[in-house]
Amino acid sequence: MKVQKFGGSSLADGQRIKKTLQIVQDEKTNHYIVLSAMKGITNLLIKASENAESGNSDYKKQLIQITEIHYNSIEYLFSTDEQSLIKENVSYLLDELKDILHGIELVQECSLRTGDLIMSFGERLNCTIAAAHLNCCGRKARMIDAREIIITDDNYGSSHVFLEDSYLKIREKLKDSDTLYVITGFISGSEKGITTTLGRNGSDYTASIIGAAMNSEIVEIWTDVDGVLTADPRIVKNSFVIPRLSIEEAMELSYFGAEVIHPYTLMPTIDKNIPVKIKNTLNTTAPGTIISTDPVERERAITGIASIDSVSFINVEGGGMLGIPGVASSIFGALAEAEVNIIMITQASSEHSICIVCRSFEVERALKHLNKKLEYEIKTKKINRIDVRNNLEIIAVIGENMKGMTGISGKLFSSLGNSEINILAIAQGSSERNISLVIESKDKIKALNTIHKTFIG
Ligand code: ADP
Ligand code: ASP
Ligand code: MG
Repeated sequence: MKVQKFGGSSLADGQRIKKTLQIVQDEKTNHYIVLSAMKGITNLLIKASENAESGNSDYKKQLIQITEIHYNSIEYLFSTDEQSLIKENVSYLLDELKDILHGIELVQECSLRTGDLIMSFGERLNCTIAAAHLNCCGRKARMIDAREIIITDDNYGSSHVFLEDSYLKIREKLKDSDTLYVITGFISGSEKGITTTLGRNGSDYTASIIGAAMNSEIVEIWTDVDGVLTADPRIVKNSFVIPRLSIEEAMELSYFGAEVIHPYTLMPTIDKNIPVKIKNTLNTTAPGTIISTDPVERERAITGIASIDSVSFINVEGGGMLGIPGVASSIFGALAEAEVNIIMITQASSEHSICIVCRSFEVERALKHLNKKLEYEIKTKKINRIDVRNNLEIIAVIGENMKGMTGISGKLFSSLGNSEINILAIAQGSSERNISLVIESKDKIKALNTIHKTFIG
């Protein structure tokens, strides 16, 4: 038994949906299907809610676009007779969406909770169409709204999953072995039954939760590239597929921005020792990338490179921090209260400054909490300043083989130096599996290509 997840990139229009659902029908193993929204729909839904919130009636244009995209795919996928029933089902959802957007326009407010409800329409619309198409092709398919089976807290926008509770619900719901279940990715429900989501790109995570619940043999993530590549193919043109990855390497790559899998994807599957495979819907015969606990033999020191853009660093500096315990704890406490996700930390051995890297959109919130929490230290000049630097990029160089190998950092820094790229901060985890660097955003393309050329070729 396996789980197959197909992302928006495999579901861009009627033609692509048909091709993708053919892969589903050709599958011989018993399987569960997880689908994302059609390509671009989640972004359109967000844009519509932002417009409605600011009282801009342009949200109606996005509504028309969303309607047209789905109706076009229905017209491509179904015979004229079948179309009216499917359009009717889809129009119920679209009418509800229209009413909610109108409500947002009237009150000019869209909370994160309402945002999750709005975004949920993408997956619900798509799975309604896909399940109907599979039924018309003679399969006994049934759409499952994941809000009933993936249970989370109410941290709207990116909620935390209660795995064991969800596993029970999933097993209860997906009981019938001859039904082909078509499950909505990305969306979930709180214990009170309110719509939540797993964060952008979260359908990969849905698939691994379903896989772990059902003890599947494998979880397949189908997308529009041949597997996990040595770098983002849109930036490094000669990046290539990595056939096998360790779980740790894959986690580091996804955490540091390789969007081909959501960073949480491997969490549920590790516990059950379920391998995850990345496959290409546009090139089904390509072997893909397999992520598992099996040992990986590789010659080169560096497996892959990833990067996160739009980050900033906050540098807290002051002579009074020297040797006084507790300042770091106050800093991290303030950031935890502010719910700011720290991506990287560096501290010089003089203890004179602590540098924290976070996403730029969180800086304002971080500063507000830091200034409040460190008010006394600032007043008494133990802390002299808190500086912020924006428009930065984190580059992460990842590889199991770096462990114990000498000279990697030297080679890395001199290659960047030779390309005249200034490094603003460096961190290396004690696992020696990752070296992270902060550079200016303007140097991103050059840095990624330089590192790729130096270490990967
Ligand atoms: P889906 O819609 O199938 O979920 P995504 O757009 O979320 O697809 O992820 C696939 C995309 O991730 C690829 O098209 C590629 O441009 C991008 N990507 C970034 N880094 C990598 C990488 N290291 N390997 C493969 N793809 C990557
Ligand atoms: N549709 C959601 C998004 O665009 C989830 C996903 O595609 O995985 O983020
Ligand atoms: Mg994705």
